[in-house]
Amino acid sequence: MRKIKRNAAQCRLCGDIIESRYTHDFVMCKCKSCFVDGGHEYLRRGFAHSPDDMIELSEYYEDEKEKPEK
Ligand SMILES: [Zn+2]
Repeated sequence: MRKIKRNAAQCRLCGDIIESRYTHDFVMCKCKSCFVDGGHEYLRRGFAHSPDDMIELSEYYEDEKEKPEK
């Protein structure tokens, strides 16, 4: 399972970049069209109109130690 490095998104309507920095850190953009939540535990997204209104900016840690299945 990949670890979340950055839980963030940008609103296309107001241009606001919102980032959830810790679990239950609920952050809404200026125009209240979209929000991010979950910090580094999980990605939660919400939007008032359409998921197309937000640009996904989340990053993950690449887990290079991931072992192949035996
Ligand atoms: Zn907005």
